[in-house]
Amino acid sequence: MRLLLHACCGPCAIYPVQLLLQRGVAVTLLFFNPNIHPLQEYARRRQGLHEVAQAFGVPLLCPERYDPQVYFRAVAFREEHRCQVCYALRLERTAQIARRGLFDAFSTTLLYSKFQKHEEIRRIGEGLGGAIPFYYEDFREGWKEGVVQSKAMGIYRQQYCGCLYSEAERYRRELEA
Ligand code: SF4
Repeated sequence: MRLLLHACCGPCAIYPVQLLLQRGVAVTLLFFNPNIHPLQEYARRRQGLHEVAQAFGVPLLCPERYDPQVYFRAVAFREEHRCQVCYALRLERTAQIARRGLFDAFSTTLLYSKFQKHEEIRRIGEGLGGAIPFYYEDFREGWKEGVVQSKAMGIYRQQYCGCLYSEAERYRRELEA
């Protein structure tokens, strides 16, 4: 199976990539994350994913230039439900590229994170699977293993989910202290 695997960062890709390679799946990684702000954070996460792709010998597609407007326009006036919009934005683009690239299926490393809305991601992914199926697996089982490996490999580990809203939630208490 040729699988296009959307990835949000290096640490979240380690466990799913290894598991899929062990099963003989031909994995191609895709970095499409206009939800990551600011640009320097985006660059660090993309570099981390590049290092993971090199370490496991899998191709990495980075087809878009950095454009946070794509994210902000998508979530405008829907900020309360921004995560669903954010998942859909990234998975729709992944499915589109997978179709064009004649992949057999698409998926995402968001299914690895215990901090994401797992069932929402699954619902959105499966809802998009028409001409090309969404590959679902609960990669959270490998959470600890991935954390240990990413630290051992020296891959950049982020402190917040990605968008400015999540960054503010992460550090708000420090501002108010
Ligand atoms: S918190 Fe994370 S998933 Fe939710 S909108 Fe922000 S970047 Fe996207």
